[in-house]
Amino acid sequence: MGERLSVLCKNCLFTEEFELGKENESEYSIQELINNFIDDKKVKKSILKRSKYNIPILDMKHEILICSKCGNMKGKTVIEFADGYITRYCCEKCGHELESFDYHEIRKAACPDCNEKALMVKEHIFWG
Ligand SMILES: [Zn+2]
Ligand SMILES: [Zn+2]
Repeated sequence: MGERLSVLCKNCLFTEEFELGKENESEYSIQELINNFIDDKKVKKSILKRSKYNIPILDMKHEILICSKCGNMKGKTVIEFADGYITRYCCEKCGHELESFDYHEIRKAACPDCNEKALMVKEHIFWG
């Protein structure tokens, strides 16, 4: 079961695609999981450490994260472990921590490119 969301800015035509939805972590080895979904070195390390101690994954999903400081939007894989650790990511542009973002609120978010509140959902595809 997958979901893909295309976002478009009506002002500057910025466009970005995001994967959304749950992922079944048992389909992947921990190495595959890291290689396929995680691009942050620190997060990779934290995951490997937990795998070493056999701490189970409770939840894994693809989300849109947003920087409350500069408006940067990123599609990230958020994984929650049984010890309470949840993967956290920082904004590549300004270093501020990214927060989860509900795409239903897209009209309230500023475009990462032109800073206008002109974002809309262009397409929302489900499969699986
Ligand atoms: Zn930022
Ligand atoms: Zn824009």
